[in-house]
Amino acid sequence: MCSDPNCAHEPNLPEWFVDDLGPLGVPYTKPEDFAVPPKESTGILFTEDHEKKGYNVKEIGDGVYWVSSGWYDCMFVRTGNGVVAVDAPPAIGENLLSAIEETTDEPVTHMVYSHWHADHVGAASIFGPDIKRVGHNKTRELLERFPDPDRPPPMETFEKDEVLDVNGVKIELSYKGQNHCEGNIFIYLPKPKILAAIDIASPGWVTFRDCDSSDNLSGYVDAFDQILEYDFNTIISGHVSKTGGRADVLEGREYMHDLQALAREALETVDVAYFAKQLSAERRTSFRWVEEEYFSACTNYVTKRMLEKKDPRGRTWAERLSGADVMTKHNAYWALEKTRLEKHHNGYVKRGNVHPPKYYV
Ligand SMILES: [Zn+2]
Ligand SMILES: [Zn+2]
Repeated sequence: MCSDPNCAHEPNLPEWFVDDLGPLGVPYTKPEDFAVPPKESTGILFTEDHEKKGYNVKEIGDGVYWVSSGWYDCMFVRTGNGVVAVDAPPAIGENLLSAIEETTDEPVTHMVYSHWHADHVGAASIFGPDIKRVGHNKTRELLERFPDPDRPPPMETFEKDEVLDVNGVKIELSYKGQNHCEGNIFIYLPKPKILAAIDIASPGWVTFRDCDSSDNLSGYVDAFDQILEYDFNTIISGHVSKTGGRADVLEGREYMHDLQALAREALETVDVAYFAKQLSAERRTSFRWVEEEYFSACTNYVTKRMLEKKDPRGRTWAERLSGADVMTKHNAYWALEKTRLEKHHNGYVKRGNVHPPKYYV
């Protein structure tokens, strides 16, 4: 039983539920603490088709199909003599085979890996051992280094740009450097103007927590600009339950720019000494507490300003991007940490000064 009288959780808590850690743990929230996402942001979720089959498949261009399980999506391309699958998220899993069989008798002959992450290509083995697997050199290197029987490494790899021509259907693959992770590529079909850019922009929704766990935040933000250089009508993001367009990418980029600017401002404004000075001589070794409070203060500085900011039409980020109220604190922390490490560092110790200064009394 939960001991907190204000707790929103069910009275018979599961055995694994930990709620008594206090400041040693993270706080729980209630659904009512956040806005209800509008129906238009939930795409194919809650549709009859999805509830019956567990997935939706839709032709979004000539021979190009989008498959979604709701929170994960991928695509495949019919070439007239074989199907090219782009990603195979385990959340869609064997339903991807059903989706392909629902639309064509052509066998799957190729699979393109957007990046090496298990949540997007962790069902790559469903196509059997004989197909051609294509991806970036880094994807191959990472999958050879961290082997997974369900993610056989791509053996046809490239460094910068590659055109995959399957039965005359051209698919442009491009790597513009590390963003969300190393080896994450853009997959573009010039004729129907469809772009798959996985784990960057999420149409209608805020980016997932910690800026989608992006290894390199500067590269991740640059990727929005790289997407906008393409002439595309439809973008596939790998997530949420719908495809998007240019306006979604512009909106996602604006959110990230706001976040980066406020992270820089917080790093220049919030004073670590304020917390360090609270340590008594007996507690002077409690550096980790100082760091904890400093980062909490920086994160709250950014989160409050992000959530209060309004666009020229008077809309807040939570009104523009679903989930912004839930995720912004996590994205704020990530933006702070990555800005601190990737951008110019404000301040260094001058000759003769001592770091850290003696704050305690
Ligand atoms: Zn990923
Ligand atoms: Zn993802």
